[in-house]
Amino acid sequence: MSISQFLILVINSGSSSLKFTLLPANGDRPLFSGIAERLGTDGTASLTLKRGASTFIEPLAEGTHAQALQMILMHLRRNGWLAHVAVVGHRVVHGGERFATSVRITPEVIRDIEAVSALAPLHNSSNLLGIRCCMEDLPSIPQVAVFDTAFHQTLPRGAYTYSIPQRFYREHGIRRYGFHGTSIRYVSAKAVELLGLDPDDHGLVIAHLGNGASASSVQDGKCVDTSMGMTPLEGLVMGTRSGDLDVGAAAQIGRIAGLDLAGVEMLLNRESGLLGVSELSSDCRALETAAEAGHPGATLALEVFVHRLARYVGALATSLRRLDAVVFTGGIGENSARVRAMTLRHLGIFNLVLDESANQYAVRGMSGRIDQGYGTQAWVIPTDEEAVIARDAAWLAGLGESQSRIE
Ligand code: AMP
Repeated sequence: MSISQFLILVINSGSSSLKFTLLPANGDRPLFSGIAERLGTDGTASLTLKRGASTFIEPLAEGTHAQALQMILMHLRRNGWLAHVAVVGHRVVHGGERFATSVRITPEVIRDIEAVSALAPLHNSSNLLGIRCCMEDLPSIPQVAVFDTAFHQTLPRGAYTYSIPQRFYREHGIRRYGFHGTSIRYVSAKAVELLGLDPDDHGLVIAHLGNGASASSVQDGKCVDTSMGMTPLEGLVMGTRSGDLDVGAAAQIGRIAGLDLAGVEMLLNRESGLLGVSELSSDCRALETAAEAGHPGATLALEVFVHRLARYVGALATSLRRLDAVVFTGGIGENSARVRAMTLRHLGIFNLVLDESANQYAVRGMSGRIDQGYGTQAWVIPTDEEAVIARDAAWLAGLGESQSRIE
């Protein structure tokens, strides 16, 4: 078989969902993708499949991850693709300090992923569920794990160490790890290419703004600081996560609401952020519409989101030798001209002046420069985590080029 006939299956297995993308090993666009949702919930699970412009939905009566995967494999077989799948790439949320790069999955790797799962019990166990189903159904196909935390393993200790008694770090690994690393890796490499920067001499702040949101500073291709912490709760305001919060305030909320620590953690993960402040929605698009109509909560939520983001951009820039560009990505970063405009207004100190029409144009998958060219640049660059997972998987299966080349 020639390289152009090899296919890569990318799996992102979450607690109640399982996403997949089927890509050719030559880097062409995906052939087939889909998402199984409401797995392990109340019996309404379904699988939505996308091929080209057409979308179709299949019910999943058992509603398990195993059934979702079997249904996906049945479609791959029916279309004659399954025999061409050469490797499966899995997204894994937490790799702790053990995984600084992607790896071929072996029984030892599974044990190590389990060992770091104490840091992200819900995420990693869902990822492992997807890995185990694939290993069972496709025993002769190599499997690769790509970690959200891996790109941040270059953080210097001054950036990753929490100012707490260090026995918690030494004995339990309590430190900042950072997430969205696969996205940041893709977007920072793409920025070097689009901006014509020297791969060995550049400084970028990348803001990945989606339902989860984080910002990272990347110098000479290496991550040097990031806003998320030991878990994805720290840092920016998110859809339902609070981001940074005085722990004293969290303790007081617990006392007022009669919640234990787990209850407070749940409240800060699920009921806070844009949803908590707006008292309306966690969805940025819905908040923009409501703010246009004068909804005070929606207006405040966007203000708080942007203030925190701009503050982080400023702080993250101090880890760089030089700031060449601020780059927006993720669902909000790629589509919300309003959030980007509000953010640049806060960042005048970097001589960032918005180009209104370029900002309106850079939506729905378009890359583009959105500043007027007075100093630091501002860019919109759509992310593509699946492309990175596929490239790493191909490389580790001996099919492709080095995983450092991901553009
Ligand atoms: P993600 O998690 O990357 O899929 O991003 C989801 C977020 O992107 C949600 O808050 C959406 O409301 C937001 N989003 C998607 N499209 C738009 C848009 N056109 N304008 C504003 N926000 C958007």
